[in-house]
Amino acid sequence: MYAKVLVLRFPPEIVDKPIITNLVRSYNLTFNILKAQIFPRKEGLMVLELRGNKLDYDRGIEYLKRIGVRIEPIDQSIKRDDEACFQCGACTAVCPTGALYIKRPEMEVIFDSERCSGCEWCVKVCPAHAMTVTLSEAE
Ligand code: SF4
Ligand code: SF4
Repeated sequence: MYAKVLVLRFPPEIVDKPIITNLVRSYNLTFNILKAQIFPRKEGLMVLELRGNKLDYDRGIEYLKRIGVRIEPIDQSIKRDDEACFQCGACTAVCPTGALYIKRPEMEVIFDSERCSGCEWCVKVCPAHAMTVTLSEAE
C-alpha cells in the first residue's frame, strides 16, 4: 500500500467536476481529505492523503495532471525555520497528526513534514513564528 499527503490545486474551470470520485472509481484509490477550500469559479485547494497500490497511484496522479490539477507534496507548503525554533514544544501539543513531536530522551522537537495535514495550528501557537504554511495562496 502506497500513501502520500498531497496538495491539489484545481483551476476554476474544473473545480465543480467529480474528480475525487473518478479517482476512487477508475483508479481504485482511497483518500482522506485533510483540508479543502473549494469555491465556484475560483481556484480550489485540497490537502488529501491518497492511498492505493503504487501502479494505481501513479495512474491516478497522471489523470489529475492530464485534467489540469497542480500537485505538490505537502512538504513544499509547510516549513520550519530551524534557526528560529527554540524547541519549546508548544506546537507538539496541538499538532493533530504527530508531524511535530518530541523525541525522547533527547527532548528534541522533530518536524516530520510528510505527516503534516496543513491545518496551520502550529503556526498559530508558535511563539517564535518558526512555522510557515503557504497553502492559502489559492484563497
Ligand atoms: S500544519 Fe502544523 S499542526 Fe498542522 S499537521 Fe502540519 S505540522 Fe501539525
Ligand atoms: S512552537 Fe515553534 S519554537 Fe516551539 S518547538 Fe514548535 S516550532 Fe519550535
